[in-house]
Amino acid sequence: MLGRKKELIRCRMSSIKKRITVRGVPMPAITGNEYVERIDRMKTRIWVDGTLVSGRISEHPVFKGVMKSQAALYDLQHNKSIKTAMTYESPLTGNKVGLSYLQPKTKEDLIKRRAMIQEWALSNNGMMGRSPDYMNTMLMAFASSAGFLKGKENCFPDNIISFYEYAREKDISMTHTFIDPQVNRARFYFETADEPIAAKVVKKNKEGIVIKGARLLATQGGITDEIVVFSAGGIQDKANGFAFSIPTDSKGLAFICRSSFVEGDSSFNYPLSSRFEEMDTLVVFDNVLVPWERVFYYDNLQVSNSFMASSSVLPFALHQAVSRQIIKTEFLLGVAQSIIEAINIMEYQHVQEKASEMIASLETMKALIMKSEAEAEADEWGFMRPGQLPLQAAVHFYPRLYPRFIEIIQLLGASGLIMIPTESAFQSSIRKELDRYLQAKSANAQDRVALFRLAWDITMSSFGTRETLYERFFFGDPVKLSSQLYFACDKKPYIRRVKDFLQKG
Ligand SMILES: Cc1cc2nc3c(=O)[nH]c(=O)nc-3n(C[C@H](O)[C@H](O)[C@H](O)COP(=O)(O)OP(=O)(O)OC[C@H]3O[C@@H](n4cnc5c(N)ncnc54)[C@H](O)[C@@H]3O)c2cc1C
Repeated sequence: MLGRKKELIRCRMSSIKKRITVRGVPMPAITGNEYVERIDRMKTRIWVDGTLVSGRISEHPVFKGVMKSQAALYDLQHNKSIKTAMTYESPLTGNKVGLSYLQPKTKEDLIKRRAMIQEWALSNNGMMGRSPDYMNTMLMAFASSAGFLKGKENCFPDNIISFYEYAREKDISMTHTFIDPQVNRARFYFETADEPIAAKVVKKNKEGIVIKGARLLATQGGITDEIVVFSAGGIQDKANGFAFSIPTDSKGLAFICRSSFVEGDSSFNYPLSSRFEEMDTLVVFDNVLVPWERVFYYDNLQVSNSFMASSSVLPFALHQAVSRQIIKTEFLLGVAQSIIEAINIMEYQHVQEKASEMIASLETMKALIMKSEAEAEADEWGFMRPGQLPLQAAVHFYPRLYPRFIEIIQLLGASGLIMIPTESAFQSSIRKELDRYLQAKSANAQDRVALFRLAWDITMSSFGTRETLYERFFFGDPVKLSSQLYFACDKKPYIRRVKDFLQKG
């Protein structure tokens, strides 16, 4: 029995080694260039403003900024001073692979994971919700919970594990989609259209399952190697419940972009959107074949509705998200304080109170993530899950805290947020006037405008308002997340204390 297991592992290792060697040299965590070249080589169908993108996607005005930022993240894995924090030795091949794939077995592993996530987040100050660690973590959690699928009808846990290993060893980039088009959200709505609207399995054959219809949203859709598609629960028709991953240039797959929020290349004018505009896409499946080896589960209502909740996706994905949100909050606090100092409003108590509100929120988020690590426990499959309740508390707060941070920056910045001439204005003959009238107590006019342009891009530009919507919704409807927190919390001890108190008279 043991011999057979060893043989299976040996076969899997040699097949993975075959896939990941370039001229016989094992390929470790990729560089930015490798990421860009791989995406450029794909023939993904991406529609921008009704036009199918052709040529190198990394040179397209809508994507070049974010792809450059994404590439910089991959390069960090090769930065000598932090390489050990960003990579680890693959248990399968011994290659250095991205640490976001690490399946934590100890609390120290969790802390290492947080350090890696925050290192990546620092390079974009948390503005990129979909830095690669987000999906890598999600897939790591899927693989770590594959045992849940064992022995269940139409479930293929080995496929998840081999896809996870493949992704880890090739360091592939991924997006994901789990929401149906927003047609009718009534509780008991059943789709009756002849042609499917919500993506569903319409056929299966000896090669795989065939998907037709759409999924509402994939951030960074079209600029990743793969798209992971799964159900987030609430499925009523089992044809709508499935999980799989396919290359983004699969036949019949198309990504339709919303209007772009890139307004220009200048990082002075558009400090954030010129670099971090991740784009959101509608994902259309026109009879897309998903090969069997990429199907994780299908045609099983019970699994479709329970995998997410029973797996470790929630605690691990939240651990990633909260780690990033802490870095973003620190940056927002830095912006608020820079405004306070630039225009010298520190003496006002309400200003101190507003900044303190941000400080207290930041400390709360930090405390929650550390509590989740302190309360981590090995799950039934031997992986160290962070405590879920503190992370659920964090994801309950953040969709409410973030819009308040935005409001605070607006309240502090006031008209400064609109009096923000462009780079060209500073290069024109009007410069003298700008220098005189737009100076601040502790900054010259150009530096002050650069700061306020940043505050505007966070709080008022189309990029900034999308960031606010992102923090409200990216992990799901905050109303439903709060319900999950309510039901996850064991309230019995508190009721017992009240009873005891009343009985004592
Ligand atoms: C910027 C951005 C990026 C995103 N990126 C991704 C991505 O990459 N991949 C992905 O899969 N998803 C992504 N999402 C989608 C995200 O997961 C959803 O926005 C979220 O799950 C809420 O679903 P919805 O948008 O369909 O809202 P809806 O479910 O349509 O909700 C609309 C309103 O109706 C209420 N409502 C609806 N149903 C109920 C109910 N049963 N009970 C109570 N109230 C209800 C909601 O509370 C809300 O007020 C992204 C969203 C945003 C905004």
